[in-house]
Amino acid sequence: MSSKTNLDLTGKVVLVTGASRGIGREAAIQLARAGATVAVNYWRSEAAAQEVVGQIGGTAFAVAADVAQPGEVRSMIDRVIDRCGRIDVLVNNAATFAMNPFDGDDYELWQQGWQRTFALNIFGAANAAFLAMRAMRKQGGGKIINVASRAAFRGETEFADYGASKAALVNLTISIARACARDNIISSCVAPGFIATEMAQSELDAHYEEIVNQIPLKRVGTVGDVAGVIVFLASPLADYLNGTIVDVNGGSWFH
Ligand code: NAP
Repeated sequence: MSSKTNLDLTGKVVLVTGASRGIGREAAIQLARAGATVAVNYWRSEAAAQEVVGQIGGTAFAVAADVAQPGEVRSMIDRVIDRCGRIDVLVNNAATFAMNPFDGDDYELWQQGWQRTFALNIFGAANAAFLAMRAMRKQGGGKIINVASRAAFRGETEFADYGASKAALVNLTISIARACARDNIISSCVAPGFIATEMAQSELDAHYEEIVNQIPLKRVGTVGDVAGVIVFLASPLADYLNGTIVDVNGGSWFH
């Protein structure tokens, strides 16, 4: 953004989890374009994260952490505070999504799926929020933006653990909104439908026509469709939105 607007994030420090590709990557790039210093979290894809940092240039930096591990979440938040002295916006974007059908026959696998999904999608987000909020309180406020999913409201027939984790994330958003506004910490949530990323690729490959036909806009979403909403929620334009859930799904689901 070349001139100052109410989307201006100059001076803000933003941490985006899972920013080495997909929605997180595009959010990191657009948040930086709006003026923010962006911490690009990744887990396995260091080269991809460094490419994002290189593309952004300036003050962006990469932070390795498996967000499913509470100790690594602590190091990630500490690293951002040590380097920047503050954290204004946390975007809880990192998540996992894997087939775990009700009619599978392996009880161990079923449990592992639920544990892995919840460890990252909800416990990781809650832990990052808890730790980021300690810095936000000291500095006079901040924002938590959670990336949930349409699955939170629709349920999932083949990945119930994923849908349940996203429903929990929506609920976490509302809890933060109610509990933390007194510290000028506000929270919001985006709930994407199908977005063209690596995460959605196998479903899109298997059911593309069916998926598009369920979307009144007749197209799958882009990472830009979601990232733009994240920039808006991070910006001063959204300062009175607290506990708000923004559906980014082309009208494919209402709740
Ligand atoms: P994606 O393409 O699979 O990217 C996932 C990102 O999360 C990667 O950068 C990955 O980094 C990171 N990640 C995975 N496990 C991690 C861990 N344990 N710790 C830290 N980072 C980790 O996913 P996406 O489609 O962009 O999804 C982003 C968000 O949107 C997720 O919350 C997802 O649930 C939500 N969403 C997506 C869709 C969709 O259709 N795509 C729909 C609704 C909601 P590494 O490779 O470095 O591990």
